[in-house]
Amino acid sequence: MIYEKQINQRMKTEVLVIGGGSAGSMAAIASGKEGRKTLLVERYGFLGGTSTTILDTFYGFYIPGTQNKKVVGGIPDILLEKLNQRNAMLLRPNTYGAGTGVTYDPEILKVVWEEMMSEANVDVLLHSFVADVITEDKKIKGVIVVNKSGFTLIEADVIIDASGDADVTALAGYPFDGIGSHIPVQSLTTTFRIGNVDEQRTKLFTKNQMWDWMKQANQSGKYHLPREEGSVHITTLPGVMATNMVRLAIPDPTNIIELSKAEILGRRQALEYFRFMKDYLPGYENSVFLNFSTQIGVRETRRIIGEYTLTKEDVLEARQFEDAIVLCGAPIEDHHNQAGTKWEYLPDGKTYQVPYRSLIPKDSVNLLVAGRCLSATHDAHASVRSMGQCMGMGQAAGIAASLAVENNCRPMDINVKTLQQKLRNYGAILEG
Ligand SMILES: Cc1cc2nc3c(=O)[nH]c(=O)nc-3n(C[C@H](O)[C@H](O)[C@H](O)COP(=O)(O)OP(=O)(O)OC[C@H]3O[C@@H](n4cnc5c(N)ncnc54)[C@H](O)[C@@H]3O)c2cc1C
Repeated sequence: MIYEKQINQRMKTEVLVIGGGSAGSMAAIASGKEGRKTLLVERYGFLGGTSTTILDTFYGFYIPGTQNKKVVGGIPDILLEKLNQRNAMLLRPNTYGAGTGVTYDPEILKVVWEEMMSEANVDVLLHSFVADVITEDKKIKGVIVVNKSGFTLIEADVIIDASGDADVTALAGYPFDGIGSHIPVQSLTTTFRIGNVDEQRTKLFTKNQMWDWMKQANQSGKYHLPREEGSVHITTLPGVMATNMVRLAIPDPTNIIELSKAEILGRRQALEYFRFMKDYLPGYENSVFLNFSTQIGVRETRRIIGEYTLTKEDVLEARQFEDAIVLCGAPIEDHHNQAGTKWEYLPDGKTYQVPYRSLIPKDSVNLLVAGRCLSATHDAHASVRSMGQCMGMGQAAGIAASLAVENNCRPMDINVKTLQQKLRNYGAILEG
């Protein structure tokens, strides 16, 4: 508990967004575009969250299968266009896995997010971490953030928790699933990038061949590769490749002792995979190690208990909802803690809808979530968590928060038809 006398700065806003990842940044931009006074709080010194700290490919914009259908639109399209104008993105067509990926330059993306904040008149507070919340009954009166200036109390009409870990929701005492449940959360991955790769020579082997070589390397006793699979892909930069190979399982990535150990082990594992790649893979003979991800990638922690919880059946049976706000055709992609990744696909060409209610913590008064902490079961989460869908949830949450402020009502009580109409006006795709 932080005491009143410790607070040395106060701010007030209509919509407060916690977390500047794909979901939170998009939520803040949407709220700002709707004319609301909006403040975005982010713990790092730049925006983008997982999109700029760990990754370089948006999945979820397109569905896998025989129809390469685009299912996310609206404000996220402006972001893609800005990357395109800067020559900082390329499409990597794919009919399997998560479908066609939009690979981008994460350094340029940091600036694109900032530019979009400025165009939407959003105030941004960087280097600020949520420390506490002040509640009155079920209402969140304010959020306290800690930074170099001390403790700042931010009062807001509506709060969007886009922290990935549902930090605000948990601090406010709302229940959650995920960590602590009987199903272990997904594994963690430190990504890394490699330079000076001969891209032509990398075409001499397939992914399956690489996996066989991983097995051979382990069997030789000279390497220790915990996961005999994973992927490496081209980036927007010549001779630079990006990987998703490291695998670490911990029960609770919000436990800072466990997370600290995982960070250290993740980097160690990454260097071991790089050693393997240099020794075994054509094209990597003269490669150099460029960088680790800014932090280890956390796929799953708290999932809120919402007014609706998206289920595995909703996903695999391509279910539709009256209060749809986002479309998704991505398979269930479960990076569990054993060998291999479990994939389960929707029927070819099909999509399910994400209901607005899955962004509303049950019985909350002025709180919404967006992004990977939505209300979904472990399996459904493993499908809906791609950045395309997180951006879609963000734009819906931002507009919904704006409507709640405008009508002085709970997010649960806004007119969902108005929300959907506004989403369509921006170019969002709500029907498959
Ligand atoms: C290893 C890995 C590989 C993946 N691969 C892909 C892929 O290739 N393509 C794809 O589309 N998806 C992929 N995903 C999934 C996807 O990246 C995430 O589900 C998605 O980015 C989550 O977005 P978000 O906005 O909900 O959370 P995040 O992007 O994590 O954003 C949360 C933000 O909140 C900030 N924050 C957190 N806590 C606080 C706090 N207390 N106070 C202030 N700020 C806070 C964080 O710094 C961060 O900026 C992958 C995920 C991982 C971990």
